[in-house]
Amino acid sequence: HSTGKTDIEIAQHAVLKPIKDVAKNLQLEEDDLEYYGKYKAKITYDKINALKTKKDGKLFLVTSINPTPAGEGKSTVTIGLGDALKRLGHKTVIALREPSLGPVMGLKGGATGGGYAQVVPMEDINLHFTGDFHALTAANNAISALLDNHIHQGNFLQIDPRRVVWKRAVDLNDRALRHVVVGLGGPGNGVPREDGFDITVASELMAVLCLAEDLNDLKQRIAKIVVAYNYEKKPVTVGDLGVEGAIALLLKDALKPNLVQTIEHTPAIVHGGPFANIAHGCNSVMATKTALKLADYVVTEAGFGADLGAEKFLDIKARTAGLKPDGVVIVATIRALKMHGGVRKEELAVENTAALQAGLLNLQKHVETIVAFGLPFVVAINRFASDTEAEIAVLKNWCSERDIPVSLTEVWEKGSAGGIDLANKLLEAAKQRNNFRPIYPLESTIEEKIETIVRKVYGGTGVEFSTKALRQMEDFKRFGWGHLPVCIAKTQYSLSDDPKKTGRPVDFAIHVRELVPKLGAGFIVALTGDVLTMPGLPIEPAAYQMDVDENGRAIGLF
Ligand code: ADP
Repeated sequence: HSTGKTDIEIAQHAVLKPIKDVAKNLQLEEDDLEYYGKYKAKITYDKINALKTKKDGKLFLVTSINPTPAGEGKSTVTIGLGDALKRLGHKTVIALREPSLGPVMGLKGGATGGGYAQVVPMEDINLHFTGDFHALTAANNAISALLDNHIHQGNFLQIDPRRVVWKRAVDLNDRALRHVVVGLGGPGNGVPREDGFDITVASELMAVLCLAEDLNDLKQRIAKIVVAYNYEKKPVTVGDLGVEGAIALLLKDALKPNLVQTIEHTPAIVHGGPFANIAHGCNSVMATKTALKLADYVVTEAGFGADLGAEKFLDIKARTAGLKPDGVVIVATIRALKMHGGVRKEELAVENTAALQAGLLNLQKHVETIVAFGLPFVVAINRFASDTEAEIAVLKNWCSERDIPVSLTEVWEKGSAGGIDLANKLLEAAKQRNNFRPIYPLESTIEEKIETIVRKVYGGTGVEFSTKALRQMEDFKRFGWGHLPVCIAKTQYSLSDDPKKTGRPVDFAIHVRELVPKLGAGFIVALTGDVLTMPGLPIEPAAYQMDVDENGRAIGLF
């Protein structure tokens, strides 16, 4: 570690301001806050409503190339950029997703940034935070319990137990729960049926929470969720069960955005956290909109590469919520580009400009994608200590030959000081013409929408639909769901649906095996390749390194 300290050590040494002082800089008074300890607060509905008449600030979106085990540092750059904008004297709010316990305990770690660009208190945010995900898990499973009870108590709605699509949820990586049978033990214990668990961050309720404009909208969205089909193969919704009020009630606090701070005391709203591979990958609309009312500049992030998070941010979240980004940052690292160029993880520290050149094709595709969306952008090189001058020169030259604005970003090592150049270049880029448009119109068919994303965003040749998916598309058209946007579930490691195809694969088709209607969220999920909505743990889970001392101090989070 070239900073000499681990992320958690830096975070634990940071001197935090009481959250009320951070809030004061945004003209948020004590009455506008609900405290969760000294350093975390939720913003009240009253305040959010009162802000509605205010003018919006500008919105910057941070995305990246396809991730590799070498690490990209999107959250790190998002936080460092926010700190840098504040250092330049701008009123800035960072809007991030809440981490999931699945990756925290598993392989990837938390999501609070790194080095000197972190949001704090990092242990709280990475663990139970303000309880939002637990509330979502409980609400999700309350729907399951009420549905199973409905079937048990006489099944007035004629739900076909073989066609229940609503799954239970837990916010952990737990492969053993992917397929389960519930209701065993005889008539007193319910009606047996096959069920399964999704990780909470892939659940429809998470998407609903993140796309809802307010509590009323939340309730209406919950009512529309399709939980099963009846014996006539017609959809049955939460509204049919009559429990949308109860479920919305369980989420009444989870829907309020959470305010925290960076190490440099920049306000950060950390709220909602769907994964970008198996869900739509963006923090909540409530958080982003509140941030836009409170600040002149909002920096937000969408998960994984621009093929997943940014595409969904622009085609789903921005379209649904009426948001228009003013500029995009595409994060790349020399290490990850070398991996896209064929270098193995063990050899990343060795200079290799040839592999870097080859790997640049991955960056090129994501640049083309952001251009296709009509948005101005800057490439941020997130500098690692192992990057050599020759490698940095190759990347910078490649960009300048193509008139691509590029900034060497050192926020991990230097905090805001390492992000000033990026902030200035982004402010400059944001002055250019902005022709933002989603990549597909809502009026096209589900098939056409998926085809367009595959061709224009992934660079593939087309789509192969399974027989099941083809049949579903017919059904969905009949149910009147054809106008919805699509949310593609795909591996994050490749532009294709095969995680092993790094770099910029060509001549590939995407395989859609199944569609999942998410009427509450307002999109149709297309499951591609082998992607799973309940991850498993790796052979050496991060949990093996975790501990807590006698004073409750966390050890081993990253
Ligand atoms: P992402 O948001 O792309 O998943 P993060 O910002 O969460 O990535 O960073 C992932 C990990 O990589 C963190 O542990 C962070 O400390 C580390 N990291 C990020 N940038 C750098 C850098 N420039 N040098 C060294 N480590 C870094």
